[in-house]
Amino acid sequence: MTEKLKGACLCGGVEYEVQDPEALGYCHCTRCQRWTGSSLAGVIVAKENFKFTKGEDLVKRYESEFAPRNFCSNCGSSLYDDLGEKYFVAAGLMRDLELDPSFHLQVAYKASWHQVGDDAPQFAENPPA
Ligand SMILES: [Zn+2]
Ligand SMILES: [Zn+2]
Repeated sequence: MTEKLKGACLCGGVEYEVQDPEALGYCHCTRCQRWTGSSLAGVIVAKENFKFTKGEDLVKRYESEFAPRNFCSNCGSSLYDDLGEKYFVAAGLMRDLELDPSFHLQVAYKASWHQVGDDAPQFAENPPA
């Protein structure tokens, strides 16, 4: 697995680097569905391991309930969900990501048309602490 990953939004205006991605998983909550158009496949990254390398001035923040959503104001790409100490970074923007999914969160709110196709553990809401 690569230690450092690069990500870029749809328009290419925003680029970033991520170090030591911790885990890949899906959040099926209704907020993520509205934000991305489906479930959010995201990578958990410590906040200090995420850094913008281009276009930080294009990044806008939507103060969503629970976690602010950061996105490119030019093309609308979802960048990351700010969980405080950790970021949940949209996986589709990092082309060299090689993790396998290891969790599904908020499955109780999953869209009926979304078929989970892997064996990663599923949690109705959040995993037990
Ligand atoms: Zn963009
Ligand atoms: Zn969610």
